Order: sequence, then structure tokens, then C-alpha cells
Amino acid sequence: MPRYDLHAHSTYSDGLLAPAALVERAAARGVDVLALTDHDDTGGLAEATAAANACGLTLVAGAELSVSWEVHTVHVVALAIDPANRILDDGLAAIRCGRDARAHRIAESLARAGIAGAYEGARRFVTSDRLISRSHFARFLVEAGHAREVKDVFKRYLAVGKPGYVAHAWASLPDAIAWIHAAGGLAVLAHPGRYKVTATGMRRLLTDFRDAGGDAIEVLSPSHTAAQCAEYATHARTFGFLASAGTDYHGPGESWLDLGDLPDLPAGVVPVWSKW
Ligand code: AMP
Ligand code: MN
Ligand code: MN
Ligand code: MN
Repeated sequence: MPRYDLHAHSTYSDGLLAPAALVERAAARGVDVLALTDHDDTGGLAEATAAANACGLTLVAGAELSVSWEVHTVHVVALAIDPANRILDDGLAAIRCGRDARAHRIAESLARAGIAGAYEGARRFVTSDRLISRSHFARFLVEAGHAREVKDVFKRYLAVGKPGYVAHAWASLPDAIAWIHAAGGLAVLAHPGRYKVTATGMRRLLTDFRDAGGDAIEVLSPSHTAAQCAEYATHARTFGFLASAGTDYHGPGESWLDLGDLPDLPAGVVPVWSKW
């Protein structure tokens, strides 16, 4: 069976590897089908596709859209999109355009906690002019000695309720799904186990996602415990969602799983790739 990894980031958002290097690493690790899913941007897909063609890997064109749902930020992975689609491209540009002002607000919040110069500090880690994210602040905070490694930063900074967290209005769930569908893609709720919601809240999110036309949920993700993988497999079956799998790889030293390091999907779910 081919090996799938349908969630990964490059330097076009907050990943550490350029698209071609990411694809080459995936191929070397035995991944047959890789989706590049940069946050709110499809700029890396041309380079990734060329690299994939050169090394015999199948590249799925994707993106990971930032969405506001109730008081939460949730992520929707788009898979098998046409990156040239104007509706999606305009939507992604609209999501990205708030990021710089948000970054200034993050820096002001960190300044109030005694950490100066965070905007300029984070900017030095940015690898695409179009996108600044909390990951870039996290790298700055490690460099400045406020945490040992990026995986630790979010325990004390940048997460809800911590210095450096600011509320932000992203896309709406129905808009994000509509843009993905306009571009011919499938909408996948990313790492559902990561959202801080009650069981009732999760059912509401899954219901809203389904009602807005969502196609699939990530069942396998390094954000999930084994029990959560089983739980989301059950949710996929009962809500009628396809099941996806991805490492959410961001680069050497920053990720919980390397490219392709995923178990098989649990029995009884329909893989999202059955649609291709
Ligand atoms: P942003 O889209 O700017 O809010 O940044 C979100 C990114 O920060 C995610 O895609 C992750 O790469 C990173 N991130 C968020 N929370 C954590 C966490 N708890 N641990 C590690 N990385 C995180
Ligand atoms: Mn990220
Ligand atoms: Mn995400
Ligand atoms: Mn991601």
C-alpha cells in the first residue's frame, strides 16, 4: 500500500525546509504521496510539484486555512486543490492580510510581559514575506533564551491565556470550506483533538463542519494520542467523514513525527485518498 502523508509545511509558511527539500526528504523516507499544506498560502506548490516529478513522488496540492469558529481558532486542511483558482487565492490573501497587524499585537503583549523587540526578532525567522506566524515568535523566544526549544515555548507563551496570545478573526468556517470546494478540493478538519472544547463542543464543531460541507477529518496526527485516533475514527464513521492522516511536519528538530511516520488508519474508516 502506498504511504501517505497529507499534512506538511515548508518555508512558504512556518516550516524549516524549502518545498523541494521537503519533498526530497519525504521521498527518501518512503513517502509515496505527500501533501504540501502551508498555512494560508499555496506559493510553495510549484516548486514542490517540480521536485516531486523529479523524484517520482506524488504531490497533492494543499493548504491549511486558519478559521475562527466560536471563540476558537481551528485549522482546515485543503487537499487536491487547483492553486490557480481565484476564489481560493483571494480567500487565502484575505486570511494572510491580517497577520502582520496581529504580529505587532503579539509583540506588544510580549513587551508587557517584559520581552522587548519581539516583532523584529520574529521577523528575522520569517522565510516568506507573505506570512508571519506564532512559530516565528517561538523561534525568537528560544533564541532569546525564554525557552529551551520550540516545543516548550507554547507552554508559557503564545497560547490562549499566556503572554503573546492575542485574539484574531480568521476566515469563517463556511467561507473556508466554500473556497476549498471552489478550487475543486476536499476540506479536512485538521488535528481535531487539539482544540480545547468539551465533548459537546466537539460534536457541535463536527456538526457545523459537516453542515458547511466539510469532507474529512484528520484521524492520524501527532497531536492525537492513540485513544484520540480511535475516538476520531469513530467520529469519522458516525458523522460520515472521510479519514485523513498527516504528520504536520515543520522541520528537523521541531516536529513530533518525521515525514511519513504514521501508522495505518484504523479499520472501518474510508481514507480521504479513496476520492482520488
Ligand atoms: P499561527 O497560525 O500564527 O497562529 O501559528 C500557529 C502555529 O504555531 C502552528 O501551526 C504550529 O506550527 C505552532 N504551534 C501552535 N501551538 C503549538 C504548540 N502547542 N506546540 C508547538 N507548536 C505550536
Ligand atoms: Mn505551523
Ligand atoms: Mn494546524
Ligand atoms: Mn499544520
